[in-house]
Amino acid sequence: MNIGANIAFLKKKLPTHVKLVAVSKFHPAEDIMEAYEAGQRLFGENRAQELTAKQKILPQDIEWHFIGALQNNKVKDIAPFVHTIQSVDSLKLLHEINKQAGKQRRIIRIFLEIHIAKEQSKHGFEPEECKAIWSKEDLNAYPNIRFGGLMGMATFTDNKEQVKSEFDLLRQLFCDLKSSSFKNCESFTELSMGMTDDYEIALSEGSTIVRIGSFIFGPRT
Ligand SMILES: *Cc1c(COP(=O)(O)O)cnc(C)c1O
Repeated sequence: MNIGANIAFLKKKLPTHVKLVAVSKFHPAEDIMEAYEAGQRLFGENRAQELTAKQKILPQDIEWHFIGALQNNKVKDIAPFVHTIQSVDSLKLLHEINKQAGKQRRIIRIFLEIHIAKEQSKHGFEPEECKAIWSKEDLNAYPNIRFGGLMGMATFTDNKEQVKSEFDLLRQLFCDLKSSSFKNCESFTELSMGMTDDYEIALSEGSTIVRIGSFIFGPRT
């Protein structure tokens, strides 16, 4: 794997307004350093313990994104440093992030994770549920949260039309929310969708952040 070359390749393919989160889960700190030396600063991890261990030993200007299932009791471990939690799938978790960010006197950016895949195993709010919740919730009740946008994962399938329609659904929800519940929320700008196998489709559907792991770092063991 030539990690630096893989990043350079992706940077060329991504429109300039699209950000790249290098998903480094399961890969050692040395691999992250290789990406860092190639100029990469945004990294994604999906386990609190692994993220905390890596954050301690890696450069402090890395922008860490949490992208996995997060238990409430783990929020306090990452709250001192995490930049964005992309996988907020319940109000209970949101409350805990707000509380722990407050304790650290920090603002933590979050993305709401939306369940767009056919697979039951994937997490997230249902699109209609999400609209209903945010038509009632008061954004001011979360002073230590910056609402950054939405995140979603498409079904793991070779059917490109299906993946496209799922990303389309996510973009529509994003536009709906941005013109209603999040109308006065300037930070609500990001649509995080696209991984190694489907990022090109995601880009064509309006993604602003792609989360790419295997293409950069190779297969996970
Ligand atoms: C692992 C993971 C990715 C990256 O997947 P690749 O297929 O390796 O690019 C992206 N998003 C989430 C939420 C992940 O868990």
